[in-house]
Amino acid sequence: MTAKKKYRRAIVYMRRALRVHDNTALWFAQKEAEEVIPIMCLSPDKRYEKDTPRRRFVTASMWDLEKSLRRLGSSLTVRRGDPTIEIPQAAVDYEADAVFAVRGCDPATAKRDQRIDVALKKAARSWIALDDRVLIPPAKITTGKGEPYRVFTPYYRTWLERQELITPELPGIRSLHTPSIGEGLAHHIEQPSETGGESAALRRWRDFLKSGINSYKRSRDLPAIDGTSILSPHLALGTLSIRKVYWDIQESKKSADPSSRENIDAFLREIVWREFYYQIIASFPHAAHGAFNEAADDIAWSTNRKIFDAWCGGETGYPFVDAGMRQLAKEGWIHNRVRMLVASFLTKDLHINWQWGEKYFMENLVDADVASNNGGWQWVAGTGTDASPWFRVFNPTTQAKKFDPKGDYVRRYIPQLKEIPGMSIHEPWRLSETEQLQAGFLLGRDYPQRIVDHSIQRLEALEMYRAGFSRRDS
Ligand SMILES: Cc1cc2nc3c(=O)[nH]c(=O)nc-3n(C[C@H](O)[C@H](O)[C@H](O)COP(=O)(O)OP(=O)(O)OC[C@H]3O[C@@H](n4cnc5c(N)ncnc54)[C@H](O)[C@@H]3O)c2cc1C
Repeated sequence: MTAKKKYRRAIVYMRRALRVHDNTALWFAQKEAEEVIPIMCLSPDKRYEKDTPRRRFVTASMWDLEKSLRRLGSSLTVRRGDPTIEIPQAAVDYEADAVFAVRGCDPATAKRDQRIDVALKKAARSWIALDDRVLIPPAKITTGKGEPYRVFTPYYRTWLERQELITPELPGIRSLHTPSIGEGLAHHIEQPSETGGESAALRRWRDFLKSGINSYKRSRDLPAIDGTSILSPHLALGTLSIRKVYWDIQESKKSADPSSRENIDAFLREIVWREFYYQIIASFPHAAHGAFNEAADDIAWSTNRKIFDAWCGGETGYPFVDAGMRQLAKEGWIHNRVRMLVASFLTKDLHINWQWGEKYFMENLVDADVASNNGGWQWVAGTGTDASPWFRVFNPTTQAKKFDPKGDYVRRYIPQLKEIPGMSIHEPWRLSETEQLQAGFLLGRDYPQRIVDHSIQRLEALEMYRAGFSRRDS
């Protein structure tokens, strides 16, 4: 005889964990409730209806989730509106005793969840938030004094020592009992032609684990090749379980040779950066709205919209920077090396507040993630504690020659420049008009002139930072 379950009916609020494999909210809901209703809450904001790479990715992921749920005998119910109102209302409408969800790690989600919790309590229903987004919850990695870490390396060392806290993957769910209730996905969003979501994530991860990971250290810095996992969209949306990634890695390491093991460890280190930024944003919520190092809030940034728009549109005249921004517009994703460079260029060459760039990335990245995005921007801008020092300024041309030595990355995203031979592609302003025409383009006609001169901007940036930081001291 099976034991009676704790709840008759539970809602699973599906957000940032759009999968059925190893999903703590879904798994514990089906363990503790007779009936389970997976629900997504769509924003009524029309901005999200624009056809962007991000929207296509999210739509494909929702449809893939719907398919996986159907295979388990369930379905995906959709509500539209503010989740702090819709989720408690759904619990009342569908007579659910509890709502399960994966715990949000950033301050805005935590605040929203608190409001859902209060509303559910008022309606005599339970809110159950479960850890899922990270391998080790932020509060479990602290210094000897019990304080959160501010610097990556000691955090990483402690993280490595605490791996026994990582829970195993959950067993697969065989079936779900879901009453037929509410509106399905088809009522709200058309089925896309492309595939995505959990199925694509698992395929991509399997392929990367089989080969790419073994040369990760060597290949990860070259944006022209497929040298990284490109799993960030899946980890951000939760179409891939981070525990699955971790445990698969442990399994692979057992039979790996020393060189492969080194590559696997380098990959895991990046995953720990992701965990680190979650602990930063959770422990220092002010960083979500301003500089982690508050003294940096006094820097007098430029507010030149025209210059900012040129950066967004990939029209700065620096090909490596522009290729990155054009990749973002086209694919919703940029290689990490290039993210660092475009962020440095915005802050230290164009003198524009990193928060403008942070917001633009959040709106356009397929892998937009509050913690990693904020951490990445503050690191580059030199406004965080564990940051690249503010006086370190990337030279866009040197960076381009180092990380795109053949110019293939630039050629892919700026075809107007593709006939420029070798490394000259990174400095089109050095070509005479005749050389430009021989290469099939003209500066100012087919590709913009440089909007700034790096060597001048660098010096001005140093002055701007120095003055900003000294304002608090005086
Ligand atoms: C200005 C800036 C903004 C960024 N914004 C985001 C963002 O919104 N979302 C996001 O997921 N990453 C962000 N990153 C981090 C990093 O660029 C991406 O995670 C990485 O490029 C994703 O590619 P990948 O999956 O092939 O990474 P891989 O190299 O294959 O790494 C595997 C995973 O580790 C994590 N990871 C790798 N590098 C970092 C890093 N530096 N910081 C945090 N996590 C990391 C990601 O989850 C990634 O999927 C940002 C970095 C910078 C400099």
